[in-house]
Amino acid sequence: MINPHYAKIPPSYLFSEVAQRVRAFAEKNPQTHLLRLGIGDVTRPLTSSVISALQQAVEEQSHAEEFRGYGPEQGYEFLREAIAEKEYRALGVNITADEIFVSDGSKSDCANIAELFDTSVTVAVSDPVYPVYVDSNAMAGRLGDFVDGAWNRLTYLVCDESNGYTPQPPSERVDLVYLCSPNNPTGAVMTHQDLQKWVEWATENKSIILFDVAYRAFIQDPELPRSIYEILGAEKVAIEFGSFSKTAGFTGLRASWTVVPKALEADGASLNAMWMRRQATKFNGTAYIVQKAAAAVYTEEGMRETGENIALYMRNAQLLRTTLNEIGITAVGGENSPYVWFKCPQNRSSWEMFDLLLNTAHIVGTPGEGFGPAGKGHFRLSAFGNPEDTKLAASRLKEMEF
Ligand SMILES: *Cc1c(COP(=O)(O)O)cnc(C)c1O
Repeated sequence: MINPHYAKIPPSYLFSEVAQRVRAFAEKNPQTHLLRLGIGDVTRPLTSSVISALQQAVEEQSHAEEFRGYGPEQGYEFLREAIAEKEYRALGVNITADEIFVSDGSKSDCANIAELFDTSVTVAVSDPVYPVYVDSNAMAGRLGDFVDGAWNRLTYLVCDESNGYTPQPPSERVDLVYLCSPNNPTGAVMTHQDLQKWVEWATENKSIILFDVAYRAFIQDPELPRSIYEILGAEKVAIEFGSFSKTAGFTGLRASWTVVPKALEADGASLNAMWMRRQATKFNGTAYIVQKAAAAVYTEEGMRETGENIALYMRNAQLLRTTLNEIGITAVGGENSPYVWFKCPQNRSSWEMFDLLLNTAHIVGTPGEGFGPAGKGHFRLSAFGNPEDTKLAASRLKEMEF
């Protein structure tokens, strides 16, 4: 009676194992202050523009004239217009409000989007990867069986030193490809040229790219693409997922958007119309007060405040990256993304590296092997920690012997 595919999915030990090792260490060393650089969540509070917008929207709800019940499933027009303007037209990209769907998180949309496709479609992901893309397709029965540490119907696009941790188009045809730039967990960012190759590949193969830009606000280099739609023709082959979570600290508040261009068709069907139908059937919208809060991110004051938080995280990222480089560890990420990723020195396993950093420097990071087979022997540090702890971590790293 139950979906048989759930039982095939290996349990995710990563964060529970990290928590357990940290707990054991803390029990033995109760006085030690741990430097938590494993965080995949923001730590700065919501900005005052967002808080005021929330308060105002809450107040409205206490008056019958301003009370809002069900909103449009696609999201309020004021927010879709703001996203179209600030996230797309500002880049010279013509995405219109009716191609934008507001949601309560990219995690759910990245997973739910696959419902638009047949269960027999083939899927590719970069490796290491954000586990949501893999597990959600495994649950839908698309990935075959998990044998010797890998799904036998999933194409793994290995990202390592040889390709600068950037996924390359595969030689075989694949229906759906998940790409994430700036990347979680590697922090690597794809260039216009990289994306151009992917758009050409998808056009030739009639494949669809599912492009995750949850970390786009962290890009510092003006030359790097913030959206796949900066590439000509991408509107015919790509769906894009954006989120307020990391950009504006909405991980607890929940607001995101998905772009399904009108020009995007598969087997002659409009994916925009299909997603509209899907959302109208299964989703009743993101809370009005949250959408008002999200719109406040785009006010002049909102942009300034959000920019300050991102700058704080990016100073952490820069410090981690330069520190690793100074001690002879080549790291990727950290320049245009809040994650720094590196190969563990002395061919250590990622759990050996975890224990070494925890026991000698009291730094908590994330072992790379939790993100897929190619994450083995790699390690992730996050810039979402507080600046004092990050500075302390940097000075301890410099004193370490690897
Ligand atoms: C954090 C994150 C998201 C955002 O998820 P939400 O559900 O919007 O909070 C999306 N993709 C990746 C890769 C992430 O790391």
